[in-house]
Amino acid sequence: MEYSSLFEKFKEQDVAGRYVTLKHIEPILGKHILKNKIQVLGNSVLEKPIYGYTTGTGNFKILLWSQMHGNESTTTKALFDLFNYLDSDDEIALCWRQKFTFLFLPMLNPDGAELYTRENANAIDLNRDFLNLSQPESQLLLKVFNDFKPDFCFNLHDQRTIFAAGKTNNPATVSFLAPAYNEERESNPSRQKAINLIAGINEKLQQYIPNQIGRFDDAYNRNCVGDTFQQFGVPTVLFEAGHFQNDYAREETRKYIFYSLIFGFNVLHENDIVNNKTANYLNIPQNNPCFFDFIYRNVKINYDNSEIITNFAAQFKEELQENQLVFTAYISSIGPLDDFYGHIEYDGKSALFESNGINFPKINDKADFLLGKNSLFVNGLLKK
Ligand SMILES: [Zn+2]
Repeated sequence: MEYSSLFEKFKEQDVAGRYVTLKHIEPILGKHILKNKIQVLGNSVLEKPIYGYTTGTGNFKILLWSQMHGNESTTTKALFDLFNYLDSDDEIALCWRQKFTFLFLPMLNPDGAELYTRENANAIDLNRDFLNLSQPESQLLLKVFNDFKPDFCFNLHDQRTIFAAGKTNNPATVSFLAPAYNEERESNPSRQKAINLIAGINEKLQQYIPNQIGRFDDAYNRNCVGDTFQQFGVPTVLFEAGHFQNDYAREETRKYIFYSLIFGFNVLHENDIVNNKTANYLNIPQNNPCFFDFIYRNVKINYDNSEIITNFAAQFKEELQENQLVFTAYISSIGPLDDFYGHIEYDGKSALFESNGINFPKINDKADFLLGKNSLFVNGLLKK
């Protein structure tokens, strides 16, 4: 199958970029209402609806939720691409609708989505709330889990741009985790299935984003939903949508999440989760936080009347301004930065740094400065 044309064919055109809220997804959900069961399963802290989207009639039940962290929208976009595919008369889609029953929660944290925060409206990280169960959104997810009794769970997230796939300068465009179910991080039949599923997805996905797939840290944390469901004996896989070169809107990564979902269902359909693929799983390089958005090397600074050559880094902050998401670059680190990479790197060639008459960069200042007399940087980028 030609996956890129499949993606282009079914890509949902009515959602894009990083700021995805209920206002964006409700009209799209409306397009699917005739063919699928779409219900309000519960409400958020601010009484916004949390939707469930059910499709398929099969015995094997898959529960998937995205945007449990409100500012992590990439997998939500990929779910809407997937909905278009599952609604089609494509032979494989038809086959999956017979084999599987899917229950999707495409926006578990609508308040956080609106505010563009990781947390919900009570400033609680829902993925650290599964021991306390203090929030309506986490209570709802557990209730859905108990009522639906899934055979498999997909826990869909975004990760920051800081991660590389191992000790390389390849961004971790997609990362996975088969969460632990105990402190010892042992394997049991359900965790093994999650491990095998990831190994199967990785095998296919490497053909599209070679060496840009990472494996997340598996320290057990009972506050996390994945660890909790895994402990309840249901294989759960964490998906993390990450950075692809120059793709801050995550429209390219969206495609690789779509592929990952397709490859995952393929593996489940062929029941290719019985053979032990732990070695393949462990071969996926670990996520390594070694990236900044920008690094400027060999820059002359003047601090306390002494000139030195050094390096500094800047990092984007995503800020909501008048309902628009703005990426603003701030200076975030100064020093050797030997073990770090920039998604964009500049060689200052010993040119003198200057910002508002000061010749050294200050942490948390906006990345607007001059290198030498002629190279003006605005919002991290060299102005041509
Ligand atoms: Zn997350």
